[in-house]
Amino acid sequence: LIVQGRQILDQCVTLTAEQQHYLYHVLRLKVGDELWILDGQGQRWLGQIQGKTVKLLRPDCRETELSTEIILCLALLKAANFEQVLQQATELGVKRIVPIQTARSLLQPSINKYQRWQRILQEAAEQSERLYVPALSDPLSVAEMVSLTPKGYIASLAAPELLWDCLPQMNLSEPIYLAIGPEGGWTASELEQVLAAGWQAVSLGRRTLRAVTAAIASLSVVSHYAER
Ligand code: SAM
Repeated sequence: LIVQGRQILDQCVTLTAEQQHYLYHVLRLKVGDELWILDGQGQRWLGQIQGKTVKLLRPDCRETELSTEIILCLALLKAANFEQVLQQATELGVKRIVPIQTARSLLQPSINKYQRWQRILQEAAEQSERLYVPALSDPLSVAEMVSLTPKGYIASLAAPELLWDCLPQMNLSEPIYLAIGPEGGWTASELEQVLAAGWQAVSLGRRTLRAVTAAIASLSVVSHYAER
């Protein structure tokens, strides 16, 4: 269970009504049962349920994070697709997700959607027992995206080089930025702008992948490499 830091006092977590419902009625846990408590910011404890509270028994130092930060710059996709990537990218260890407003993006971000996305990230982090919930940035334009770093990788069907072949040149002590385009693809001028800023175009193979598949396939390759 992921809790807010302010819920923890004197080695004890005060559960919200929603958390009590989740533990007792969804997970069917009972008083005395043990569970993992995470603060989403790098700390985890073994806890024991005691009614409306959980007593923290001992900290747990198991490492779940990749040693390299992977930042996914994800074009705003159709809502269900975007949410699927949030979930699976969290499982794969992504550190931060930056929604990108592209010329062919169909989704308009809003406060409600942003809150829903935060919940999806938190639930995925809980499910995959990650110590950190990935950060979700405010949406950026393509120009703002390239100003984040002078060197990133943009998935493009026209790229001559495979992402796989770029792995050995990646500096794993620095964050790795990966950009995935929308369902309709990057426009020629977006691609030109990103390449002019110094980013490298990478291919994910000869087939056209759905944007969701492209995001997950590229993250799988890089996270697997960073995990070694
Ligand atoms: N017709 C669109 C085009 O020509 O760009 C297809 C876009 S594809 C469905 C969505 C995004 O996934 C692309 O913008 C790209 O970032 C990524 N993508 C899909 N297949 C890819 C591949 N084989 N290599 C590199 N990127 C790919």
